[in-house]
Amino acid sequence: MKKLSTILLIISMFSCSQNAKKVNRDILLENRDTTVLPGSDFFKYANGNWIKNNKIPAEESAWGIGNLVVDEINLKLKTICDNSIAQNAKKGSSVRMIADYWKTAMDTIKTELLGTTPLNDEFKRIDAISNTNDIIKEVARHHQFGVNSLMDIYVYNDLINSDKMSLYLSQGGLGLPNRDYYFNNDERSANIRKEYLNHIAIMLEYVGEPKETCIRSAEDIIALETILAHKSRKLEDLRDPHANYNPYSKTKLKELNTMYNWDIWFSALNINPDTIIIGQPEFFKEIDQLFAKTNLTVWRNYLKWNLVHSLASTLNKSIEKENFRFYGQVLNGIEVQKPRWKRSIRALENAMGDNLGQEYVKLFFGEKEKKRYSDMVENVRSTFSEHIAQLDWMTPETKKKAQEKLKSMGKKVGYPDKWRDFSNMNIDTISYFNNELEARKWWFNYSLNKLGKPVDRTEWNMTPQTYNAYYNPSNNEIALPAAIFAVPGFKDEMLDEALIYGYAGASTIGHEITHGFDDEGRKFDQFGNLQNWWTKDDESKFKEKADKLVAQFNNFVVLDSMHVNGKATLGENIADLGGVVLGLDAFKKQNNSSKIRQSMV
Ligand SMILES: [Zn+2]
Repeated sequence: MKKLSTILLIISMFSCSQNAKKVNRDILLENRDTTVLPGSDFFKYANGNWIKNNKIPAEESAWGIGNLVVDEINLKLKTICDNSIAQNAKKGSSVRMIADYWKTAMDTIKTELLGTTPLNDEFKRIDAISNTNDIIKEVARHHQFGVNSLMDIYVYNDLINSDKMSLYLSQGGLGLPNRDYYFNNDERSANIRKEYLNHIAIMLEYVGEPKETCIRSAEDIIALETILAHKSRKLEDLRDPHANYNPYSKTKLKELNTMYNWDIWFSALNINPDTIIIGQPEFFKEIDQLFAKTNLTVWRNYLKWNLVHSLASTLNKSIEKENFRFYGQVLNGIEVQKPRWKRSIRALENAMGDNLGQEYVKLFFGEKEKKRYSDMVENVRSTFSEHIAQLDWMTPETKKKAQEKLKSMGKKVGYPDKWRDFSNMNIDTISYFNNELEARKWWFNYSLNKLGKPVDRTEWNMTPQTYNAYYNPSNNEIALPAAIFAVPGFKDEMLDEALIYGYAGASTIGHEITHGFDDEGRKFDQFGNLQNWWTKDDESKFKEKADKLVAQFNNFVVLDSMHVNGKATLGENIADLGGVVLGLDAFKKQNNSSKIRQSMV
């Protein structure tokens, strides 16, 4: 994944593009702050003038090239969506699905008219809960709606044997971003908890709970979540794949819990896996205690809260606004909510992104671009290979394994060769809520259906119009969606090699390849299996070097007294550092320095 801060310096491309032919100036250099010494604060030196001259817009929490790209893509997607309605395509077709979802998402009158009634049937079920087993059935039902009550569930390659898909259960069930938010003592965290209490109470009131009991119910929900948080691992402890991989047979799982009846849960989901990978056994053990201590009323409120929280964006204005007030304003400091059309595109993207992607690449990313960036991957790969060969601290034995892993790393560039088929997703014009629920159910079933089937290594986990990229350790591959190469205001052929080696070669391709060798990625072998291929000595030397980066980032202050968590962000920081070094060296090898910046003046 990509960090925006490393690429801020290129953002000026957009603002200057209109004058590109007339003005002879260096638009990258002018966004520097030359009053700052690069050796003392490189970030300020490189981006200082951009930050001074570009206020963060009220609807954003950051403002850099990523936001400009997303803005441009959003406009393109909006045109695709609007055109899909005009086409009046046949029912079940990809274009018609876009049209129907888009119509309901933008229909504020109908959404307002429906109010919270779409929740009625689910709330009736929750009100009828009369014992522990009923709670378990509801938890399983929520999984199918993509609502993470009590725990997270997902299907992914088995970490030890990547040729198999496994069912994973992980700590979850929290309404705040992670466990530390429940315990940190600083003023900001205390205020967030206070506002969180108000927020839950307001949401409960909006869905029909009497005003006088809302605060009490919200306190009970937070108390329940705090018990879950107490047994949840810290972010940095989730980075160790070995420690978070605990295979359980069904028998062993039943021994772990006495009150949580797993048979009920399996039958509610209609699954029968031989093994379940439990991320954090101590968290799941705690569920018994929770069941013993928590009364049914609290469970009912907790389940209702999870449902309304997860689906807030599809409900009436007061709920949707209150959801933004807490999660946008209080938690993330965003002043103004994004317009509805942008939020609807995001939702459509999650529901059936491949349908939009097919239309997007037809218009904006072709074979020529695909080849340009595929070639660049190979250039960066060969640079990486040279870097491994030159390492003065790694033994030949580990170097050989590293080279093998690098050589066999797969690449996905631009867009997939085959698109997901959503034709059996039940999209209609009934309501936004209904379409969203149908889409979520489709995705859940799609995911569960992978169990017991051969792994499809051609599948993409991002759509082409996503401004991001990833390294997938289980496939030992990098995936680079078309949008990650977009520079706002420019066609690809207008961008010279110097620019794209910095932008795509360093901060995307080099960054993602390096993830294969960061503190987490290095634990997987060339076949995508969690298997140690390092000698003891090389491993301790790697850790020694990584610890220096941890210490460096622990010292950075984000805001007020809040420091970067060096351990939790280590993977990104290693990837950023590796990416910059690789991009520069790969560029130097292209022997085209004479072309530098020609298109930028
Ligand atoms: Zn990353």
